[in-house]
Amino acid sequence: MSMSEKIGIITCSNAATEMDCCAAPCLRDLNQHLGSFKEHHESPPILAGMITCAGCPTLAYPEKIMRKVKSLIEYKISTIHFSCCMVSLCPFLNKYIEIISEEYPDVRLIKGTHATTISHEQFREYFNIACRNHLNMNDIIKGRVTDDQKKPGLRRDEE
Ligand code: SF4
Ligand code: SF4
Repeated sequence: MSMSEKIGIITCSNAATEMDCCAAPCLRDLNQHLGSFKEHHESPPILAGMITCAGCPTLAYPEKIMRKVKSLIEYKISTIHFSCCMVSLCPFLNKYIEIISEEYPDVRLIKGTHATTISHEQFREYFNIACRNHLNMNDIIKGRVTDDQKKPGLRRDEE
């Protein structure tokens, strides 16, 4: 039997903080060896740590992510997974990958965490609806979104 890899997960700070995402779908698929945790790991990986990104780095300082990466690296992880929200939403992700790869060439960098049946565009649309209507990630995941809330430009406090 192959050895389980020790991994870290980095999530989008906007999804985690502004949308109160407790990462339940990420953790469910990690625990059940599904999604990217199955696709990229022969054996169920061991989660050493999970951390949000450092927030918007601006175009001036994408290296801001490195303090978060270092926090995970100290626990001798071999792989970092970037959460699905980060893959769908983050305009800096490819730059982050470039910077992290330069400093830690032996660490595997994987885009994705839980299994998903929606496209990046659909994820961005859900995020847009949630932000416009002051919904959180649980409202999206559990389907507590009304048809009115899906209409462009309609905010809950304008109803
Ligand atoms: S969009 Fe990117 S930089 Fe901005 S909070 Fe999300 S992961 Fe961090
Ligand atoms: S990928 Fe989904 S469940 Fe995981 S942290 Fe992002 S929004 Fe939450």
